[in-house]
Order: sequence, then C-alpha cells, then structure tokens
Amino acid sequence: EATVAQIAAGEVVERPASVVKELVENSLDAGASSVDVSVESGGTERIVVADDGRGMTADDLQVAVRQHTTSKLGDADDLDAVSTLGFRGEALYTVGSVSEMTVTTRPRDAGGSGSRIVVDHGDVGDVTPAGRPAGTTVEVADLFGETPARRKYLKRAATEFGHVNRAVTRYALANPDVAVSLTHDGREVFATTGTGDVRDAALAVYGREVAQSLREVDAEPNTGSVERVHGYVSDPEVTRSTREYLATFVNGRAVTDTVLREAVLDGYGGQLAPDRYPFAVLFVDCEGVDANVHPRKLEVRFEDEAGVKSAVESAVRDALLDSGL
Ligand code: ADP
Ligand code: MG
Repeated sequence: EATVAQIAAGEVVERPASVVKELVENSLDAGASSVDVSVESGGTERIVVADDGRGMTADDLQVAVRQHTTSKLGDADDLDAVSTLGFRGEALYTVGSVSEMTVTTRPRDAGGSGSRIVVDHGDVGDVTPAGRPAGTTVEVADLFGETPARRKYLKRAATEFGHVNRAVTRYALANPDVAVSLTHDGREVFATTGTGDVRDAALAVYGREVAQSLREVDAEPNTGSVERVHGYVSDPEVTRSTREYLATFVNGRAVTDTVLREAVLDGYGGQLAPDRYPFAVLFVDCEGVDANVHPRKLEVRFEDEAGVKSAVESAVRDALLDSGL
C-alpha cells in the first residue's frame, strides 16, 4: 500500500525526467562545475547524477533527505526559485519516498569525510561513511516500484529518455560554464566542456552541422521591459520537424512559452519551409515576468507581451540579416 507521502510524490514526480531535473538543479545550486547524468532504460531502471559541487556534511545529509523547509519557500514567485519542484524544498524527500535513493556526498570544504544514506521507498537508513571526492552523487533506482498505479503510466524507455534528453540539453545550453554530460544505457549521448561559450555547448549537444549554422543574436532593445535578447539561431535551412529545438530561457531559466516561440519563428520572416522549425538557444533578460508555479513545468506570463514579442522578433531578424541572408 502506498503511503500518503508516496501518493503525493506521484503528483509531482511524474516521470524520470522530473527526477533528473530536480537532481541537476541541486547540483547547479551546489556550484558544481561538472554534472554527469547517467540513466538506464530512459531512467525507468536507474538514474545517477554526480557532481563536483560543494557537497554535504553527514549532518546536512540527514536533514536533506527528510521533509524540511527551505529558504526558497518564501520566494515562490521568484522565477529563480520556481523552476521545478525546487520551490517546495522537498525534492530529495519526495524522490526518496518513491524510489530506492542513495546519496553519497563529501563536502568540498573543511577536509570533511564522505558519507552515504539510503532511502528505501521512504524508509530512511543510517548515515554511513563512504569514500568519494568532493561533491555529491544521487542514485535513484526502482522508481515507483511500490506505487504500481504510477509506474504503469511510465512510457517506453525511448519516450522517457526523450524527456530526460530534452531536460538535460536545456541545462547544458543554459549553463555553458558547467561541463554537463548525458549517458544512456552506458553510451555517452553528449558531453559539454564547460568553456562558458554557448556555441561550444551547442556543438556538443547538437553537432557540427547545427553549430556551424548558428547566427549570433545580441540585441539590447532599450525600450519596454526587455533588457537584452541574446544567444543563437540557426540558418533557415537547418531545421527539424518539431519545435523542441527552439530552446528559450527567461532570466536564465528554461521556459516553454508560445509567445517566445512565435516571435522567433516570425523573426525568420517566411524563410522557413512549412512545418519546419529552426534551432535556437535564446536568452531573454526581462522585467515584468510572472512565473506559473506549477511544479512540473515552467511557464511565464509577460506583463508587456507585445513588447517582448517585437523585441525578440527583431533581434532574430537582425541576426539573420547580419549574416547576409
Ligand atoms: P531544495 O533544493 O529546495 O533545498 P532539495 O530536497 O532539492 O530541496 O535539497 C535539499 C537540500 O539538500 C538542499 O537545500 C541542499 O542543501 C542539499 N543538497 C541537495 N542536493 C545537493 C547537491 N547535489 N550538492 C550539495 N547539496 C545538495
Ligand atoms: Mg532542490
């Protein structure tokens, strides 16, 4: 029988990709310069996220996997705090209640030693000593193993992996200064090098053809709520049949937003073939953003929607014109 905590967890941890998002966010929050994500069978069998961030002491670790309040709770409408489950301050607790979760960590400072804790579908074990370089590894197995009603909603491995891949891709593109790697069933899917250059990250994630077609976008509209629109868009010939390669970020956070996507497409001014979508890695720095605090996705509403749309559209148009198209 599933406990109340397990049922509640199923509402927010929908699938392997939701777990991956939470763990990667934690690694980035911990100041990691490398984050390695490895999944088996799309994450339905196993998820491992390892970082070289600041790590935790044994005491921190005890607290981290239990239900606790986070300082982030107070700022639930701050875009920064709202990303996925982050604003609940209970990601590790939630994941631990619906899986077999092992956290191994060692603090970067104070020459601290390593420790490990295992949470077996909500049963928190004792902290034991464990060797590890500074940083944290979280391993999640048997996801929804004790909540069959939830487990049966998982899709086949390829579909779940698609969600994981999209999520990790976005973190890699949004954090070009962090070396992010993704491995599926033992095969490396991509690995960025953390140079800080978005184009390098795009090369690692999307490959050479796409990276070479990228045109730099950089505009500071100086009007309305948009401070800066920057990033890259592909030539109109380098497209795919789905919108998923149109990655947009508002104030550094990946968002799914039709206003931004339409604005990017409009910036191509009819140069795209029907039902073809370009690659984009586009950052919008902007005021007047309301974030929707739905735990599973990050949607935004712009106070000045028309202004944002025209700023993005003209930034993209200028980038394509500059490159002589
Ligand atoms: P939140 O991130 O909202 O605080 P989580 O349950 O995701 O809640 O994490 C709980 C706490 O565990 C974090 O606040 C942090 O102190 C610690 N923690 C989790 N993951 C890591 C990590 N990869 N590196 C260092 N500390 C971590
Ligand atoms: Mg967190």
